[in-house]
Amino acid sequence: MTDAIKRVVIVGGGTAGWNAAALFARTLGKVISITLVESDEIGIVGVGEATIPPIINFNNALGFDEAEFLRATQGSIKLGIQFENWGNAGDSYMHAFGNIGKDFAFCGFHHFWLRSQQEGIESDYWDFSLNYQTARKNKFAKLNHIPGTQLPGISYAYHFDAGLYAQYLRNYCEHSGVTRVEGMIKRAHQHSETGFIESVELESGQLIEGDLFIDCSGFRGLLIEQVLETGYEDWSHWLPCDRALAVPTESNGTIKPYTRSIAHTAGWQWNIPLQHRTGNGHVYCSAYMSDDEAARTLLQHVEGAPLAEPRSIPFKTGRRRKQWHKNCVAFGLASGFLEPLESTSIHLVQSGLRRLVQHFPHNGIKPAEVDEFNRQSQVEFEKIRDFIIMHYKVNARTDSQFWIDCRNMDIPDSLQHRLELFKTSGKVFKEGDELFQEIAWQQVLIGQGLVPSDYHPLADSISREQLAGLMADLKSLVAGASDNCARHEEFLLSCGVQL
Ligand code: FAD
Repeated sequence: MTDAIKRVVIVGGGTAGWNAAALFARTLGKVISITLVESDEIGIVGVGEATIPPIINFNNALGFDEAEFLRATQGSIKLGIQFENWGNAGDSYMHAFGNIGKDFAFCGFHHFWLRSQQEGIESDYWDFSLNYQTARKNKFAKLNHIPGTQLPGISYAYHFDAGLYAQYLRNYCEHSGVTRVEGMIKRAHQHSETGFIESVELESGQLIEGDLFIDCSGFRGLLIEQVLETGYEDWSHWLPCDRALAVPTESNGTIKPYTRSIAHTAGWQWNIPLQHRTGNGHVYCSAYMSDDEAARTLLQHVEGAPLAEPRSIPFKTGRRRKQWHKNCVAFGLASGFLEPLESTSIHLVQSGLRRLVQHFPHNGIKPAEVDEFNRQSQVEFEKIRDFIIMHYKVNARTDSQFWIDCRNMDIPDSLQHRLELFKTSGKVFKEGDELFQEIAWQQVLIGQGLVPSDYHPLADSISREQLAGLMADLKSLVAGASDNCARHEEFLLSCGVQL
Protein backbone atom coordinates (compact mmCIF):
# COMPACT_ATOMS: atom_id res chain seq x y z
CA MET A 1 0.00 0.00 0.00
CA THR A 2 1.07 3.58 -0.50
CA ASP A 3 2.00 5.45 2.64
CA ALA A 4 -0.11 8.57 2.29
CA ILE A 5 -3.37 8.59 4.23
CA LYS A 6 -5.91 10.28 1.98
CA ARG A 7 -9.08 8.20 2.33
CA VAL A 8 -10.63 7.74 5.76
CA VAL A 9 -13.51 5.27 6.12
CA ILE A 10 -15.63 5.43 9.26
CA VAL A 11 -17.63 2.30 10.06
CA GLY A 12 -20.71 3.18 12.13
CA GLY A 13 -23.08 6.10 12.40
CA GLY A 14 -23.79 6.26 16.12
CA THR A 15 -22.53 9.00 18.42
CA ALA A 16 -18.94 7.84 17.92
CA GLY A 17 -19.07 7.61 14.13
CA TRP A 18 -20.69 10.98 13.56
CA ASN A 19 -18.42 12.66 16.11
CA ALA A 20 -15.45 11.25 14.20
CA ALA A 21 -16.80 12.41 10.86
CA ALA A 22 -17.56 15.89 12.22
CA LEU A 23 -14.14 16.46 13.77
CA PHE A 24 -12.25 15.10 10.76
CA ALA A 25 -14.33 17.21 8.39
CA ARG A 26 -13.71 20.31 10.49
CA THR A 27 -9.97 19.80 10.93
CA LEU A 28 -8.70 17.67 8.03
CA GLY A 29 -11.57 17.98 5.56
CA LYS A 30 -9.40 19.75 2.99
CA VAL A 31 -6.71 17.05 2.90
CA ILE A 32 -8.62 13.78 3.28
CA SER A 33 -11.82 12.28 1.94
CA ILE A 34 -14.25 11.00 4.58
CA THR A 35 -16.78 8.23 3.99
CA LEU A 36 -19.10 6.96 6.72
CA VAL A 37 -20.89 3.62 6.40
CA GLU A 38 -23.84 2.76 8.59
CA SER A 39 -26.59 0.19 8.55
CA ASP A 40 -30.17 1.33 9.15
CA GLU A 41 -31.03 -2.28 9.83
CA ILE A 42 -28.66 -2.46 12.82
CA GLY A 43 -29.33 1.07 14.06
CA ILE A 44 -27.53 2.72 16.97
CA VAL A 45 -27.42 1.90 20.67
CA GLY A 46 -29.46 5.07 21.25
CA VAL A 47 -28.46 5.75 24.85
CA GLY A 48 -25.75 8.15 26.03
CA GLU A 49 -27.57 11.30 27.00
CA ALA A 50 -25.50 12.88 29.77
CA THR A 51 -22.18 14.62 29.21
CA ILE A 52 -19.42 16.48 31.07
CA PRO A 53 -18.10 20.03 30.58
CA PRO A 54 -15.36 19.37 27.95
CA ILE A 55 -18.18 18.86 25.42
CA ILE A 56 -18.55 22.64 25.36
CA ASN A 57 -15.02 22.95 23.89
CA PHE A 58 -15.72 20.19 21.39
CA ASN A 59 -18.93 21.88 20.24
CA ASN A 60 -17.09 25.20 20.00
CA ALA A 61 -14.38 23.55 17.90
CA LEU A 62 -17.08 22.42 15.48
CA GLY A 63 -18.58 25.92 15.50
CA PHE A 64 -21.97 24.88 16.93
CA ASP A 65 -24.41 27.53 18.07
CA GLU A 66 -25.46 26.57 21.61
CA ALA A 67 -29.09 27.68 21.39
CA GLU A 68 -29.57 25.83 18.09
CA PHE A 69 -27.87 22.75 19.57
CA LEU A 70 -30.20 22.72 22.59
CA ARG A 71 -33.25 23.18 20.37
CA ALA A 72 -32.25 20.44 17.95
CA THR A 73 -31.37 17.84 20.57
CA GLN A 74 -34.18 18.59 23.10
CA GLY A 75 -31.24 19.33 25.39
CA SER A 76 -31.00 20.64 28.92
CA ILE A 77 -28.21 21.93 31.15
CA LYS A 78 -26.27 19.63 33.46
CA LEU A 79 -24.50 21.06 36.52
CA GLY A 80 -23.46 17.78 38.11
CA ILE A 81 -24.65 14.34 39.21
CA GLN A 82 -26.63 13.81 42.38
CA PHE A 83 -25.68 10.47 43.95
CA GLU A 84 -28.41 9.02 46.15
CA ASN A 85 -28.04 5.96 48.45
CA TRP A 86 -24.39 5.49 47.47
CA GLY A 87 -22.33 5.87 50.68
CA ASN A 88 -25.26 4.54 52.67
CA ALA A 89 -28.96 4.03 51.97
CA GLY A 90 -30.65 7.43 52.43
CA ASP A 91 -27.48 9.49 51.78
CA SER A 92 -27.28 12.08 49.03
CA TYR A 93 -24.49 14.25 47.67
CA MET A 94 -23.63 15.84 44.38
CA HIS A 95 -20.54 15.52 42.26
CA ALA A 96 -20.96 19.08 41.06
CA PHE A 97 -18.90 20.44 38.18
CA GLY A 98 -16.75 23.50 38.80
CA ASN A 99 -14.93 24.65 41.87
CA ILE A 100 -15.73 24.54 45.57
CA GLY A 101 -14.73 27.41 47.85
CA LYS A 102 -11.59 29.28 46.95
CA ASP A 103 -8.23 28.27 45.47
CA PHE A 104 -5.21 28.40 47.76
CA ALA A 105 -1.67 28.12 46.43
CA PHE A 106 -0.45 25.04 48.29
CA CYS A 107 -3.47 23.18 49.54
CA GLY A 108 -7.10 22.74 48.60
CA PHE A 109 -9.97 24.66 50.17
CA HIS A 110 -11.26 21.41 51.64
CA HIS A 111 -8.38 21.44 54.17
CA PHE A 112 -9.80 24.68 55.59
CA TRP A 113 -13.24 23.14 55.57
CA LEU A 114 -11.95 20.02 57.33
CA ARG A 115 -10.44 22.15 60.08
CA SER A 116 -13.68 24.11 60.38
CA GLN A 117 -15.51 20.82 60.94
CA GLN A 118 -13.10 19.82 63.66
CA GLU A 119 -13.57 23.21 65.35
CA GLY A 120 -17.35 23.00 65.28
CA ILE A 121 -17.88 25.74 62.67
CA GLU A 122 -20.98 24.38 61.10
CA SER A 123 -21.30 24.06 57.33
CA ASP A 124 -21.86 21.54 54.59
CA TYR A 125 -19.04 21.11 52.06
CA TRP A 126 -21.48 21.86 49.23
CA ASP A 127 -22.46 25.23 50.77
CA PHE A 128 -19.37 26.41 48.90
CA SER A 129 -20.24 24.89 45.53
CA LEU A 130 -21.88 27.39 43.22
CA ASN A 131 -22.86 24.58 40.87
CA TYR A 132 -24.56 22.61 43.62
CA GLN A 133 -26.39 25.58 45.13
CA THR A 134 -27.60 26.63 41.69
CA ALA A 135 -28.61 23.08 40.73
CA ARG A 136 -30.66 22.47 43.85
CA LYS A 137 -32.64 25.66 43.14
CA ASN A 138 -33.24 24.43 39.56
CA LYS A 139 -31.48 27.50 38.25
CA PHE A 140 -28.74 28.27 35.73
CA ALA A 141 -26.81 31.20 34.26
CA LYS A 142 -23.66 31.46 32.19
CA LEU A 143 -21.26 32.93 34.74
CA ASN A 144 -17.49 33.04 34.32
CA HIS A 145 -17.04 34.39 37.84
CA ILE A 146 -19.09 35.02 40.92
CA PRO A 147 -19.97 38.66 40.26
CA GLY A 148 -17.59 41.17 41.86
CA THR A 149 -14.99 38.49 42.69
CA GLN A 150 -12.28 36.40 41.07
CA LEU A 151 -14.04 33.23 42.25
CA PRO A 152 -14.87 30.87 39.38
CA GLY A 153 -18.43 30.82 38.11
CA ILE A 154 -20.56 27.97 36.80
CA SER A 155 -19.23 25.00 34.86
CA TYR A 156 -21.78 23.03 32.87
CA ALA A 157 -22.49 20.34 30.31
CA TYR A 158 -25.60 19.06 28.53
CA HIS A 159 -28.19 16.34 28.61
CA PHE A 160 -29.62 15.50 25.19
CA ASP A 161 -31.56 12.95 23.18
CA ALA A 162 -28.94 10.52 21.78
CA GLY A 163 -30.85 9.90 18.54
CA LEU A 164 -31.29 13.62 17.87
CA TYR A 165 -27.64 14.23 18.72
CA ALA A 166 -26.50 11.70 16.08
CA GLN A 167 -28.93 13.32 13.62
CA TYR A 168 -27.60 16.80 14.38
CA LEU A 169 -24.02 15.66 13.82
CA ARG A 170 -25.05 13.89 10.62
CA ASN A 171 -26.63 17.08 9.20
CA TYR A 172 -23.47 18.97 10.06
CA CYS A 173 -21.29 16.34 8.36
CA GLU A 174 -23.38 16.09 5.24
CA HIS A 175 -22.98 19.85 4.82
CA SER A 176 -19.23 19.49 5.41
CA GLY A 177 -18.37 17.11 2.59
CA VAL A 178 -18.71 13.75 4.37
CA THR A 179 -20.07 10.97 2.15
CA ARG A 180 -22.62 8.73 3.87
CA VAL A 181 -23.18 5.21 2.60
CA GLU A 182 -26.07 3.16 3.93
CA GLY A 183 -25.59 -0.59 3.90
CA MET A 184 -24.56 -3.66 5.82
CA ILE A 185 -20.85 -4.50 5.80
CA LYS A 186 -20.42 -8.23 5.35
CA ARG A 187 -16.66 -8.54 5.24
CA ALA A 188 -13.36 -6.67 5.18
CA HIS A 189 -10.46 -7.27 2.78
CA GLN A 190 -6.93 -7.21 4.17
CA HIS A 191 -3.51 -6.88 2.59
CA SER A 192 -2.11 -10.39 2.32
CA GLU A 193 1.20 -9.54 4.01
CA THR A 194 0.60 -6.64 6.37
CA GLY A 195 -2.95 -7.51 7.41
CA PHE A 196 -3.88 -3.85 6.92
CA ILE A 197 -7.52 -3.35 5.96
CA GLU A 198 -7.86 -2.34 2.33
CA SER A 199 -11.63 -2.20 1.92
CA VAL A 200 -14.98 -3.14 3.39
CA GLU A 201 -17.55 -4.90 1.30
CA LEU A 202 -21.28 -4.32 1.65
CA GLU A 203 -23.99 -6.93 1.18
CA SER A 204 -24.85 -5.13 -2.06
CA GLY A 205 -21.36 -6.00 -3.31
CA GLN A 206 -20.16 -2.37 -3.14
CA LEU A 207 -16.50 -2.09 -2.10
CA ILE A 208 -15.38 0.89 -0.06
CA GLU A 209 -11.62 1.32 -0.12
CA GLY A 210 -9.66 3.32 2.41
CA ASP A 211 -6.21 4.06 3.84
CA LEU A 212 -7.35 4.47 7.44
CA PHE A 213 -10.40 2.76 8.96
CA ILE A 214 -12.20 4.14 12.00
CA ASP A 215 -14.15 1.44 13.79
CA CYS A 216 -17.24 2.95 15.42
CA SER A 217 -19.36 -0.15 14.94
CA GLY A 218 -20.46 -0.43 18.58
CA PHE A 219 -19.97 -3.34 20.97
CA ARG A 220 -19.33 -5.81 18.11
CA GLY A 221 -16.03 -4.13 17.17
CA LEU A 222 -16.51 -5.17 13.56
CA LEU A 223 -12.98 -4.33 12.38
CA ILE A 224 -10.86 -3.93 15.51
CA GLU A 225 -12.01 -7.27 16.97
CA GLN A 226 -13.83 -9.38 14.42
CA VAL A 227 -11.25 -8.74 11.70
CA LEU A 228 -8.06 -7.75 13.53
CA GLU A 229 -8.62 -9.78 16.74
CA THR A 230 -7.04 -7.14 18.92
CA GLY A 231 -8.27 -8.59 22.24
CA TYR A 232 -10.23 -7.19 25.17
CA GLU A 233 -9.10 -6.51 28.72
CA ASP A 234 -11.96 -7.51 31.01
CA TRP A 235 -12.48 -5.28 34.08
CA SER A 236 -15.65 -6.89 35.37
CA HIS A 237 -13.91 -8.08 38.56
CA TRP A 238 -13.73 -4.38 39.52
CA LEU A 239 -16.91 -3.18 37.86
CA PRO A 240 -19.25 -6.18 38.05
CA CYS A 241 -22.42 -4.58 36.63
CA ASP A 242 -23.06 -6.19 33.26
CA ARG A 243 -26.50 -5.08 32.09
CA ALA A 244 -28.61 -2.02 31.64
CA LEU A 245 -32.34 -1.62 31.14
CA ALA A 246 -33.25 1.70 29.56
CA VAL A 247 -36.71 3.27 29.47
CA PRO A 248 -37.83 6.78 28.54
CA THR A 249 -40.67 8.33 30.55
CA GLU A 250 -42.86 11.38 30.23
CA SER A 251 -41.39 14.54 31.73
CA ASN A 252 -42.63 15.11 35.19
CA GLY A 253 -42.63 18.78 36.17
CA THR A 254 -39.43 20.75 36.55
CA ILE A 255 -36.54 19.98 34.19
CA LYS A 256 -33.76 19.53 36.72
CA PRO A 257 -30.33 20.84 35.66
CA TYR A 258 -28.55 17.73 36.92
CA THR A 259 -28.41 13.96 36.44
CA ARG A 260 -29.55 11.71 39.26
CA SER A 261 -27.81 8.43 40.05
CA ILE A 262 -29.81 6.38 42.53
CA ALA A 263 -28.14 3.29 43.97
CA HIS A 264 -30.33 0.20 44.32
CA THR A 265 -29.47 -3.17 45.87
CA ALA A 266 -27.34 -4.47 42.95
CA GLY A 267 -26.52 -1.40 40.88
CA TRP A 268 -27.93 2.02 40.21
CA GLN A 269 -30.46 3.96 38.18
CA TRP A 270 -29.96 7.06 36.07
CA ASN A 271 -32.46 9.86 35.61
CA ILE A 272 -31.70 12.34 32.83
CA PRO A 273 -34.18 15.19 32.37
CA LEU A 274 -34.67 16.42 28.80
CA GLN A 275 -37.18 18.89 27.40
CA HIS A 276 -39.58 16.33 25.92
CA ARG A 277 -38.99 13.33 28.19
CA THR A 278 -36.82 11.85 30.91
CA GLY A 279 -34.21 9.19 30.19
CA ASN A 280 -34.03 6.40 32.79
CA GLY A 281 -31.98 3.28 33.04
CA HIS A 282 -30.99 0.65 35.57
CA VAL A 283 -27.40 -0.58 35.49
CA TYR A 284 -27.15 -3.81 37.49
CA CYS A 285 -25.18 -6.95 38.11
CA SER A 286 -26.89 -10.08 36.83
CA ALA A 287 -25.08 -12.27 39.37
CA TYR A 288 -27.00 -10.48 42.15
CA MET A 289 -30.30 -9.53 40.50
CA SER A 290 -32.58 -11.16 37.94
CA ASP A 291 -33.72 -9.27 34.84
CA ASP A 292 -37.31 -9.31 36.10
CA GLU A 293 -36.38 -7.82 39.44
CA ALA A 294 -34.21 -5.22 37.73
CA ALA A 295 -37.13 -4.18 35.52
CA ARG A 296 -39.50 -4.00 38.50
CA THR A 297 -37.00 -1.90 40.46
CA LEU A 298 -36.52 0.45 37.53
CA LEU A 299 -40.22 0.98 36.93
CA GLN A 300 -40.92 1.47 40.64
CA HIS A 301 -38.49 4.36 40.71
CA VAL A 302 -39.35 6.29 37.55
CA GLU A 303 -41.36 9.46 38.00
CA GLY A 304 -43.42 9.77 34.81
CA ALA A 305 -45.36 7.28 32.69
CA PRO A 306 -43.11 4.95 30.62
CA LEU A 307 -43.08 5.76 26.90
CA ALA A 308 -41.80 2.30 25.86
CA GLU A 309 -40.96 -1.12 27.22
CA PRO A 310 -37.60 -1.30 29.04
CA ARG A 311 -34.84 -2.23 26.60
CA SER A 312 -32.04 -4.56 27.70
CA ILE A 313 -28.41 -3.74 26.91
CA PRO A 314 -25.83 -6.32 28.06
CA PHE A 315 -22.21 -5.20 28.33
CA LYS A 316 -18.81 -6.21 29.59
CA THR A 317 -16.72 -3.53 31.25
CA GLY A 318 -13.22 -3.28 29.89
CA ARG A 319 -11.14 -2.00 27.08
CA ARG A 320 -9.75 -3.08 23.73
CA ARG A 321 -6.08 -4.01 24.24
CA LYS A 322 -5.05 -1.59 21.52
CA GLN A 323 -7.31 1.23 20.45
CA TRP A 324 -5.20 1.66 17.32
CA HIS A 325 -4.07 -1.54 15.58
CA LYS A 326 -2.58 -1.64 12.06
CA ASN A 327 -4.61 0.90 10.03
CA CYS A 328 -7.69 0.76 12.23
CA VAL A 329 -8.56 3.01 15.18
CA ALA A 330 -11.60 2.23 17.34
CA PHE A 331 -13.78 4.75 19.16
CA GLY A 332 -16.91 4.50 21.26
CA LEU A 333 -18.29 1.13 22.25
CA ALA A 334 -15.94 -0.61 19.80
CA SER A 335 -12.98 0.63 21.86
CA GLY A 336 -14.24 -0.45 25.27
CA PHE A 337 -16.91 0.27 27.82
CA LEU A 338 -17.12 1.95 31.20
CA GLU A 339 -20.57 2.13 32.73
CA PRO A 340 -22.14 5.59 32.41
CA LEU A 341 -21.86 6.45 36.12
CA GLU A 342 -19.83 9.61 35.45
CA SER A 343 -21.02 10.14 31.85
CA THR A 344 -17.56 9.65 30.42
CA SER A 345 -18.07 7.64 27.20
CA ILE A 346 -18.86 10.48 24.83
CA HIS A 347 -15.99 12.40 26.36
CA LEU A 348 -13.64 9.46 25.71
CA VAL A 349 -14.76 9.46 22.08
CA GLN A 350 -14.12 13.17 21.72
CA SER A 351 -10.81 13.27 23.52
CA GLY A 352 -9.63 10.19 21.59
CA LEU A 353 -10.57 11.85 18.32
CA ARG A 354 -8.69 14.97 19.28
CA ARG A 355 -5.69 12.77 20.04
CA LEU A 356 -5.95 11.08 16.65
CA VAL A 357 -6.06 14.42 14.88
CA GLN A 358 -2.93 15.40 16.82
CA HIS A 359 -1.23 12.12 15.83
CA PHE A 360 -2.73 11.99 12.35
CA PRO A 361 -0.54 9.71 10.20
CA HIS A 362 -0.77 11.69 6.97
CA ASN A 363 2.48 10.23 5.66
CA GLY A 364 2.09 6.61 6.65
CA ILE A 365 1.47 4.76 9.89
CA LYS A 366 4.57 4.80 12.10
CA PRO A 367 4.81 2.30 15.00
CA ALA A 368 6.07 4.97 17.42
CA GLU A 369 3.05 7.16 16.68
CA VAL A 370 0.66 4.23 17.16
CA ASP A 371 2.34 3.23 20.43
CA GLU A 372 2.15 6.75 21.81
CA PHE A 373 -1.50 7.09 20.86
CA ASN A 374 -2.27 3.75 22.51
CA ARG A 375 -0.27 4.63 25.63
CA GLN A 376 -2.08 7.93 26.14
CA SER A 377 -5.47 6.33 25.50
CA GLN A 378 -4.76 3.56 27.99
CA VAL A 379 -3.73 5.98 30.75
CA GLU A 380 -6.83 8.09 30.16
CA PHE A 381 -9.15 5.08 30.25
CA GLU A 382 -7.55 3.60 33.38
CA LYS A 383 -7.72 6.82 35.38
CA ILE A 384 -11.42 7.14 34.66
CA ARG A 385 -11.89 3.46 35.51
CA ASP A 386 -10.32 4.03 38.94
CA PHE A 387 -12.60 7.00 39.58
CA ILE A 388 -15.64 4.88 38.83
CA ILE A 389 -14.45 1.92 40.91
CA MET A 390 -14.07 4.30 43.87
CA HIS A 391 -17.85 4.90 43.93
CA TYR A 392 -18.41 1.19 44.53
CA LYS A 393 -15.53 0.59 46.90
CA VAL A 394 -16.18 3.47 49.30
CA ASN A 395 -19.58 2.48 50.64
CA ALA A 396 -20.90 1.63 54.08
CA ARG A 397 -24.05 -0.19 52.99
CA THR A 398 -24.94 -3.36 54.84
CA ASP A 399 -28.34 -3.95 53.26
CA SER A 400 -27.22 -6.07 50.30
CA GLN A 401 -24.52 -8.60 49.51
CA PHE A 402 -23.64 -6.68 46.33
CA TRP A 403 -22.56 -3.60 48.26
CA ILE A 404 -20.76 -5.62 50.93
CA ASP A 405 -18.82 -7.47 48.22
CA CYS A 406 -17.97 -4.21 46.44
CA ARG A 407 -16.62 -2.76 49.67
CA ASN A 408 -14.47 -5.84 50.26
CA MET A 409 -13.16 -6.27 46.72
CA ASP A 410 -9.51 -5.84 45.78
CA ILE A 411 -8.95 -2.68 43.78
CA PRO A 412 -6.11 -1.51 41.52
CA ASP A 413 -2.99 -0.51 43.49
CA SER A 414 -3.15 2.98 42.00
CA LEU A 415 -6.59 3.50 43.54
CA GLN A 416 -5.69 1.83 46.84
CA HIS A 417 -2.84 4.30 47.24
CA ARG A 418 -5.11 7.27 46.56
CA LEU A 419 -7.72 6.17 49.06
CA GLU A 420 -5.10 5.60 51.75
CA LEU A 421 -3.49 8.98 51.13
CA PHE A 422 -6.81 10.80 51.31
CA LYS A 423 -7.97 8.96 54.42
CA THR A 424 -4.85 9.75 56.41
CA SER A 425 -3.95 13.21 55.11
CA GLY A 426 -6.87 14.70 53.19
CA LYS A 427 -4.60 14.92 50.16
CA VAL A 428 -5.47 13.86 46.66
CA PHE A 429 -3.44 14.70 43.57
CA LYS A 430 -4.39 14.67 39.91
CA GLU A 431 -1.80 12.99 37.68
CA GLY A 432 -0.82 14.58 34.38
CA ASP A 433 -3.80 15.56 32.30
CA GLU A 434 -6.12 13.12 34.05
CA LEU A 435 -9.77 14.00 33.43
CA PHE A 436 -11.09 14.20 36.98
CA GLN A 437 -9.67 17.04 39.03
CA GLU A 438 -8.86 16.88 42.74
CA ILE A 439 -12.18 18.58 43.47
CA ALA A 440 -14.07 15.71 41.84
CA TRP A 441 -12.24 13.07 43.91
CA GLN A 442 -12.85 15.09 47.11
CA GLN A 443 -16.56 15.37 46.49
CA VAL A 444 -17.10 11.69 45.86
CA LEU A 445 -14.89 10.61 48.76
CA ILE A 446 -16.41 13.03 51.26
CA GLY A 447 -19.88 12.47 49.82
CA GLN A 448 -19.57 8.73 50.35
CA GLY A 449 -18.42 9.16 53.91
CA LEU A 450 -14.63 9.01 53.74
CA VAL A 451 -13.79 12.08 55.83
CA PRO A 452 -10.00 12.37 56.33
CA SER A 453 -8.52 12.23 59.80
CA ASP A 454 -6.06 15.07 59.14
CA TYR A 455 -5.77 18.28 57.16
CA HIS A 456 -2.92 20.38 55.75
CA PRO A 457 -1.08 22.55 58.34
CA LEU A 458 -1.64 25.66 56.21
CA ALA A 459 -5.25 25.57 57.33
CA ASP A 460 -3.96 26.38 60.83
CA SER A 461 -2.28 29.57 59.62
CA ILE A 462 -5.37 31.67 60.32
CA SER A 463 -7.22 32.16 63.58
CA ARG A 464 -10.49 30.46 64.37
CA GLU A 465 -12.32 33.78 63.93
CA GLN A 466 -10.71 34.33 60.54
CA LEU A 467 -11.64 30.80 59.53
CA ALA A 468 -15.25 31.29 60.62
CA GLY A 469 -15.31 34.61 58.72
CA LEU A 470 -13.87 33.01 55.57
CA MET A 471 -16.48 30.24 55.65
CA ALA A 472 -19.35 32.67 56.27
CA ASP A 473 -18.22 35.06 53.50
CA LEU A 474 -17.79 32.32 50.91
CA LYS A 475 -21.08 30.70 51.80
CA SER A 476 -22.93 33.98 51.46
CA LEU A 477 -21.24 34.83 48.11
CA VAL A 478 -22.19 31.42 46.69
CA ALA A 479 -25.75 31.62 48.01
CA GLY A 480 -26.21 35.13 46.61
CA ALA A 481 -24.80 34.26 43.18
CA SER A 482 -26.98 31.16 42.89
CA ASP A 483 -30.10 33.10 43.98
CA ASN A 484 -29.46 35.58 41.19
CA CYS A 485 -29.39 32.97 38.42
CA ALA A 486 -32.44 32.50 36.20
CA ARG A 487 -34.61 29.44 36.47
CA HIS A 488 -33.26 26.63 34.28
CA GLU A 489 -36.45 26.61 32.19
CA GLU A 490 -36.17 30.37 31.64
CA PHE A 491 -32.67 29.87 30.28
CA LEU A 492 -33.92 27.15 27.92
CA LEU A 493 -36.76 29.42 26.76
CA SER A 494 -34.21 32.15 26.08
CA CYS A 495 -32.57 29.68 23.64
CA GLY A 496 -35.83 29.46 21.73
CA VAL A 497 -36.87 26.01 22.89
CA GLN A 498 -40.56 25.26 23.23
CA LEU A 499 -41.51 23.81 26.60
P1 FAD B 1 -23.56 2.53 18.31
O1 FAD B 1 -24.49 3.60 18.71
O2 FAD B 1 -23.93 1.13 18.66
O3 FAD B 1 -23.36 2.64 16.74
C1 FAD B 1 -22.83 1.58 15.98
C2 FAD B 1 -22.95 1.91 14.52
O4 FAD B 1 -22.27 0.91 13.76
C3 FAD B 1 -24.39 1.95 13.99
O5 FAD B 1 -24.55 3.03 13.12
C4 FAD B 1 -24.51 0.64 13.23
O6 FAD B 1 -25.46 0.74 12.20
C5 FAD B 1 -23.09 0.52 12.69
N1 FAD B 1 -22.77 -0.85 12.31
C6 FAD B 1 -22.49 -1.90 13.11
N2 FAD B 1 -22.26 -3.01 12.39
C7 FAD B 1 -22.37 -2.66 11.09
C8 FAD B 1 -22.27 -3.35 9.86
N3 FAD B 1 -22.00 -4.67 9.80
N4 FAD B 1 -22.45 -2.67 8.71
C9 FAD B 1 -22.74 -1.34 8.73
N5 FAD B 1 -22.85 -0.63 9.86
C10 FAD B 1 -22.68 -1.29 11.03
N6 FAD B 1 -22.15 7.84 27.25
C11 FAD B 1 -22.14 9.05 27.80
O7 FAD B 1 -21.24 9.84 27.51
N7 FAD B 1 -23.13 9.43 28.65
C12 FAD B 1 -24.10 8.60 29.05
O8 FAD B 1 -24.98 8.99 29.81
C13 FAD B 1 -24.10 7.28 28.53
N8 FAD B 1 -25.03 6.38 28.91
C14 FAD B 1 -24.96 5.11 28.41
C15 FAD B 1 -25.83 4.13 28.88
C16 FAD B 1 -25.71 2.81 28.44
C17 FAD B 1 -26.61 1.76 28.97
C18 FAD B 1 -24.76 2.48 27.46
C19 FAD B 1 -24.65 1.08 26.93
C20 FAD B 1 -23.90 3.44 26.97
C21 FAD B 1 -23.98 4.75 27.46
N9 FAD B 1 -23.09 5.71 27.04
C22 FAD B 1 -23.09 6.95 27.60
C23 FAD B 1 -22.16 5.40 25.99
C24 FAD B 1 -22.69 5.93 24.69
O9 FAD B 1 -23.97 5.43 24.44
C25 FAD B 1 -21.78 5.51 23.57
O10 FAD B 1 -20.48 5.91 23.88
C26 FAD B 1 -22.14 6.17 22.32
O11 FAD B 1 -23.48 6.05 22.04
C27 FAD B 1 -21.33 5.65 21.21
O12 FAD B 1 -21.92 4.52 20.63
P2 FAD B 1 -21.25 4.02 19.32
O13 FAD B 1 -21.40 5.07 18.30
O14 FAD B 1 -19.91 3.54 19.66
O15 FAD B 1 -22.10 2.72 18.93
